[in-house]
Amino acid sequence: MEFQKFRTMHFPRDVYIGHDVLFKVKDAVSNNSKNDKVLIITGSTTYELAGTKVKDLLEGIGYDVTVVKTGDATYENLSKVSEEICGISPGIVLGVGGGTKIDISKKIAFDLSLPFISVPTAPSHDGIASPRASIKREGVSYSEEGAMPIGIIADTSIMIKAPYRYLAAGAADVISNISAIKDWRLSNRLKGEEFSSSAAAISEYSAQEIIGNVLLIREYSESSVWLVTKNILASGTAMAIAGTSRPGSGSEHLFTHALESAGVDDVLHGEMCAMGTVISMYLHDDNWQIIREKLENLGVSIRAKDYGITDETVIHALRTAHSIRPERYTILGESDMSYDAAVKALEITGVI
Ligand SMILES: [Zn+2]
Repeated sequence: MEFQKFRTMHFPRDVYIGHDVLFKVKDAVSNNSKNDKVLIITGSTTYELAGTKVKDLLEGIGYDVTVVKTGDATYENLSKVSEEICGISPGIVLGVGGGTKIDISKKIAFDLSLPFISVPTAPSHDGIASPRASIKREGVSYSEEGAMPIGIIADTSIMIKAPYRYLAAGAADVISNISAIKDWRLSNRLKGEEFSSSAAAISEYSAQEIIGNVLLIREYSESSVWLVTKNILASGTAMAIAGTSRPGSGSEHLFTHALESAGVDDVLHGEMCAMGTVISMYLHDDNWQIIREKLENLGVSIRAKDYGITDETVIHALRTAHSIRPERYTILGESDMSYDAAVKALEITGVI
């Protein structure tokens, strides 16, 4: 048969990571902006933490900077931001903040066909280096296509100021690549879904880097932020190679979305993924105990009770998670898991 395979890959081109790299935003913007107007989307706290410095740096080299402060990544806030920037015509969009501000910025940049620079202030999940934007409506997250960051400025001296819980959750999100790859392989075998072994290798490697160095990840340690962020960026690269979020998102992420659909709030993305990964590894009949132990070392609990989530909510989420994204085949299969099997999986792994 004639060779017909093709794939499109979008990679970030200016990536700065490490101590005091924030000033590099000048290079990233100069290299990529379409004109002399810059739009910064940020939050109140993150503006104080990094946004104001970014604004000063860019104004210092002649850019006309507009700052828009927003809140959670909801469709409502997205519309408000779109209204606020009406008539500005920026040449580039910068998202300065934690996950939610970056989600809104990458969606705005995508909608306006503008280059996007990610300036994360916390290493809390892999969205800081991916083109997917998670936007909520009535508490439920929807995965929207966003702009792949053309630049990433991950200043560890700023990110270290975020609470340790965010760092641990970011590490857990990278660990979840392990079950995501298992699901992707399964789908390749059972459904013939295209599989990229190079993307899978990078994704698994980044998870193993965290697993193997889990005891080095500590509070108040900037090198821990470096370790986690570097592997978040590697996960983003795996997704860019694959052209899909498959290398970082399988049954454990479906479970996470099912929890969100059930109204679970105030639990970090990586924390829900941590629970999901342990359950998924159990269902794959793999060594879930070691994953649970590594997560415990990180200080990430996989007990639903610790987050105030009821047993019934978790059971329902596990049974129905397969239906969240039916085209994404995983170990959860294509029909609801039996009640008894769900309870057994959750009890054995210690989630309930
Ligand atoms: Zn994730």
